[in-house]
Amino acid sequence: MSAAAPVDKSKPYFPLAGSARDGWSNDEEATATCFCGAVQLKFPTQGPGVVETFVCHCADCRKITASMFASNFSIADRHLTHVRGRENLTAFGQSRTIGSGNTMTNHFCSTCGTLMYRVSSGFPGMSILRIGTVDDFHLHETKLKPQREQFVERRVEWLHPLDGVKQVEGTYNPEN
Ligand SMILES: [Zn+2]
Ligand SMILES: [Zn+2]
Repeated sequence: MSAAAPVDKSKPYFPLAGSARDGWSNDEEATATCFCGAVQLKFPTQGPGVVETFVCHCADCRKITASMFASNFSIADRHLTHVRGRENLTAFGQSRTIGSGNTMTNHFCSTCGTLMYRVSSGFPGMSILRIGTVDDFHLHETKLKPQREQFVERRVEWLHPLDGVKQVEGTYNPEN
């Protein structure tokens, strides 16, 4: 199938993206793989291990993604499996730009630079993964579709709010 062929987004599909060809999904679990294929994670797509899905427009997320926003989903660590390449992850953490004063540590592939997840010192036991690393792109449309946008006051002017998605200024506070 060529990259330009029409895609049926209503069922699982794994487009040619990066070097790994062994991503998979089933009704309960799926893989996330870095661009070069050295690092692969396995996570639940439903149930108690899935904490939340969200888009973040904060300044750090622009820098870290080299794009205008980050598309995230949080998984409880006890439900997250490193299939391969854990030793190939580099960790870089800092707290200077984190409003809460927490340290955010980024874990990215040492070979290709894909950011696989972030961990906040303020939310132990949870990892923030990237929707774009999930191999089954159907999940980007369905189970992993963002539930909220945060730091919307930082969103670039040429992007519009996502239809039907909760809009939050600043970081998310479950008590609000
Ligand atoms: Zn890689
Ligand atoms: Zn952010």
